[in-house]
Amino acid sequence: MADCVFCKIAAGDIPAAIIDEDDHAFAFLDIRPLTRGHMLVVPKEHVARLADLKETPRRSLWDLVHGLVPRIEESVSADGMTVAVNDGSAAGQEVPHVHVHLVPRKKGDGYGPIHALFGTPKEADKKELGILAEQI
Ligand code: AMP
Ligand code: ZN
Repeated sequence: MADCVFCKIAAGDIPAAIIDEDDHAFAFLDIRPLTRGHMLVVPKEHVARLADLKETPRRSLWDLVHGLVPRIEESVSADGMTVAVNDGSAAGQEVPHVHVHLVPRKKGDGYGPIHALFGTPKEADKKELGILAEQI
């Protein structure tokens, strides 16, 4: 898509620190890293939402994620990784081109789990969980 920043990176029209790629997806360092080594894994073809991804780019995307996590951990001496997708503007997605955030984490870094975004959850009603599971 012409005015999409990640399409421009995919086309080589704007620079990025590209880490890895295959025919259908690639990974590059986030320009405003949450932690050192923060990376985005992106399909080369423009799609806005995870559900829009076709099988081939979907496999490439998740295969890259799978391979990169241990490589990044090793490179920046991380102890873990927050793997996150803001899927849709309601979920905070700012660039409307699918991207998986890989955010290296260290023991005791103080950021906590992404659950912390939502405050303290209450135990769900079991009957309600059953009804919801049926609906989904
Ligand atoms: P999101 O809020 O999930 O849509 O995240 C978009 C991410 O893209 C943010 O973490 C930005 O820092 C990152 N970003 C935006 N433009 C660029 C760029 N030109 N190169 C690398 N990362 C970028
Ligand atoms: Zn795009």
